[in-house]
Amino acid sequence: VPDVKLIKDNASLFSQNCVDRNYASHKEYPFRIRELAEEAARLVEELKSPRQKIKEVEKAISRIAAQGLTPEETKLKIAALREDAHKLKHASEKAMLQKEQIDDEIRRLALTLPNLTSLQTPVGDAPRLIQYLNYDPANPPSWATKHDPSRSHVEIGTSLNLIDFTSSATSTGWGWYFLTNEGALLEQALIQYSLSVALRRGWKPVSPPSIVYSYLQEACGYQPRDQNNEQQVWHIEQSEKDSVKPQRSLAGTAEIPLAAMYAGREIDESLLPLKFVGPSRCYRAEAGARGVDTKGLYRVHEFTKVELFAWSDNVRSDASDITHANCAPLNDLFNELLDIQFEILTSLGLPCRVLEMPTGDLGASATRKCDIEALFPSRLRTSEQPGSGEAVNLETAWGEVTSASICTDYQSRRLGTRVRGRDGKKPRYPHTVNGTAIAVPRVLAAILENCWDESRRIVVIPLVLRQWMGGMETIGKN
Ligand code: AMP
Repeated sequence: VPDVKLIKDNASLFSQNCVDRNYASHKEYPFRIRELAEEAARLVEELKSPRQKIKEVEKAISRIAAQGLTPEETKLKIAALREDAHKLKHASEKAMLQKEQIDDEIRRLALTLPNLTSLQTPVGDAPRLIQYLNYDPANPPSWATKHDPSRSHVEIGTSLNLIDFTSSATSTGWGWYFLTNEGALLEQALIQYSLSVALRRGWKPVSPPSIVYSYLQEACGYQPRDQNNEQQVWHIEQSEKDSVKPQRSLAGTAEIPLAAMYAGREIDESLLPLKFVGPSRCYRAEAGARGVDTKGLYRVHEFTKVELFAWSDNVRSDASDITHANCAPLNDLFNELLDIQFEILTSLGLPCRVLEMPTGDLGASATRKCDIEALFPSRLRTSEQPGSGEAVNLETAWGEVTSASICTDYQSRRLGTRVRGRDGKKPRYPHTVNGTAIAVPRVLAAILENCWDESRRIVVIPLVLRQWMGGMETIGKN
């Protein structure tokens, strides 16, 4: 359940938040919620008076015997009082039903609102650069002088028999892929390596299911849609005998089953922060994906990802801190998650940049989101400006490889996850954070392109992955 009091007391803020986050069609909802909440409060007041009167009538009936009336008078008096009580009950039931309908409407509207936004998030569509990793803008990589089509993971991967896009055409369709030989080993090495980094920091391993109840995706705020507003989720057809159960779908990310592990349950305070790391297959319809990303591994329908998901305590230093900006356990946990991402990508030697994502890119659940992008030589484009000669546009070469979000209590409220304190205080909704430890296809593509030695026609395997590949140092002929 969303925090209706918070919305009602801060309706203008919630409305502006809708505008900032590309939910402009919802901008009137906070005001409507406030109106409905006032109407509900009026009905509660109204209900008090018939309830009191019904009690009085019931008392009057019980006292009739002591009034010395004839049996006929008693009968008539009781009938009149019962008639009064009946009318009062009818009026009160009607008002109660009205109140329930109003509460349902408030809940329906509140559930569609996006989370509030962190003060660190830039308003609009442009991300803010936080820092570079393994990259100095004054000293760009040597390949960054011209677009070289041979330096693409599709070329490298197919020529070294690491990726097979042909067999998948007969097994599943265009847009799917097989990883083969050292390509398949690289995937396993990336999974093992990223798991090992998270495990070392105390994150607990989980292998979650890939199929989830569809309503959970929405409760987690996972509503990816393309520019034509097409749902990006694969739904599973149900048989007749299954039709009474909720609809299921293929999870777009392990964030959904991991968040659902504590749906409708309480977490003991002593377990916080509770941190899980889980590898899983992810399924994306990517219905509207077009252009350069449709070739190769950059945007695929099915891929392996190792996901980080955690709950932390919800402690507000100050009631006015409604975006939880000063919640220390939450900020510490998010920084730890970012640190894991930095460690993994830095040790793989990939040139990266860390971005504070803008309001237009936050989706429904995040209050703050940081993405990391890596440089992909294949995405480098030569400027099409007439007269610009061989000028390249390095901006196009950056591609997202990880994402990390703070969701405060947005998901735990919708999923009914609570923290039980030892102090006997009311249970509270914990905060959640999530992020990518490794998304295999994009990182694998970035490794093939960045670690490609053109003169020797080999891929130099990053040092940290070698122990997971039987000590192998390079891929290709030496
Ligand atoms: P998301 O769960 O959408 O935040 O994505 C997490 C990470 O998964 C992204 O940062 C990408 O590295 C990767 N990713 C997302 N969608 C795809 C896709 N269709 N194909 C390959 N990788 C993807």
